Amino acid sequence: MSEGGVVQLELTFLGTGSALPSATRNHTCIALRLDAAVWLFDVGEGSQHQLMKSANIRIGKIEKIFLTHLHGDHVFGLPGLLCTMTNAVGGGNNREEESAAVSEEGSESATTTTSSKRPPLQIYGPSGTRKYVRNSLKSSYSRLGLDYLVHELLLNSDEATKTEEGEAHPNELQGTDLIIDTTTNSWSVFEDERCSVIASPLTHTVPSIGFVVTERPAAGKLNIDLAKPILERHKDVIASQLKIKNPMSLLAKVKAGNTVSLPDGTVILSPSDVVGPPRPGRKVVVLGDTSDNELIVPFCSDADVIVHEATNAKLSSDLRTTEEEVEKTTKDHGHSTPQMAGSFAKRCGAKSLVLTHFSQRYKGDKDEASLSVMREIRDLAVREFGCDNVTTAYDFYVHDVPRRK
Ligand SMILES: [Zn+2]
Ligand SMILES: [Zn+2]
Repeated sequence: MSEGGVVQLELTFLGTGSALPSATRNHTCIALRLDAAVWLFDVGEGSQHQLMKSANIRIGKIEKIFLTHLHGDHVFGLPGLLCTMTNAVGGGNNREEESAAVSEEGSESATTTTSSKRPPLQIYGPSGTRKYVRNSLKSSYSRLGLDYLVHELLLNSDEATKTEEGEAHPNELQGTDLIIDTTTNSWSVFEDERCSVIASPLTHTVPSIGFVVTERPAAGKLNIDLAKPILERHKDVIASQLKIKNPMSLLAKVKAGNTVSLPDGTVILSPSDVVGPPRPGRKVVVLGDTSDNELIVPFCSDADVIVHEATNAKLSSDLRTTEEEVEKTTKDHGHSTPQMAGSFAKRCGAKSLVLTHFSQRYKGDKDEASLSVMREIRDLAVREFGCDNVTTAYDFYVHDVPRRK
């Protein structure tokens, strides 16, 4: 159990369009902020420009990148972003400071950039991710100012990609091959003191993945009004036997779950007396393109937020087609309708649903006509979800995930 967990957990939608971008929607890219750290989910073309325009995401703070699948609208922005990150290490996202990272000259200057002390960038994706990143960087003679490694999430049918001697990119470290656990149909992708990440395959026209980020439970609230007088009463013995002058400095220790006791074992303050029950961690689900997400359902229960694609919809103005026909065509292309997303959120008992990855027909600007279409799309999802907490994402939309009580 972490002492404080993550304080600020929020999603920023940097791109909300599907295969064809438009003037009002960039290709898919979602940033998850865990306090200062940033994780990206997909990096469609132009994502680095969106990052530069974003008010709350700093390129230099990106620690991990998760790719849901290798369709171009989800990955074409990755090589350019990696080159830009070369000069953004340290958190700056000032374009002047990061000049020419991917120009011919920039690539040369990047070659001479001394490798930073920051940890290597971790990239996760399906089979083929390692080669895609390696080949695009090598073919463009790009050198990075930071190291990276690619962890591939492999299905049983995937062959592990062997890296031959001298084949890796100069900045590439050895990543891992994560083989799917066929009893649970999932990958245990990653865990640290803040959270864990589980992934599961989705049905799409190519291998696609959904990611579930679960925050660790946070320590309960410390009742200072109860704890302070107890420590105050024992300040003399704390000073003489524990050699601690300020007894209040022990509050953090108690909040973290430690008992304050004297060398002879006498307990002065126990966390169970002054600290409330642990607060459950939040759960964020980000799905790649999908027409069927049955396998990931067991991992998404009680999610705080589900990010689900809703590529096509039957609008009231579409007089020549029916909901059934639109759903069939959408599924045939490996995608979902708002109703399918709403139904999934309901099955998971989710608290909120964010729709994204819209067809270029559905504009992301603030014109009343565009907003009216998006309201209609939202209503279709609400109808199936049975919950009003549905948002149709637009570029730069920020979705806060409030802490659980
Ligand atoms: Zn897509
Ligand atoms: Zn796709």
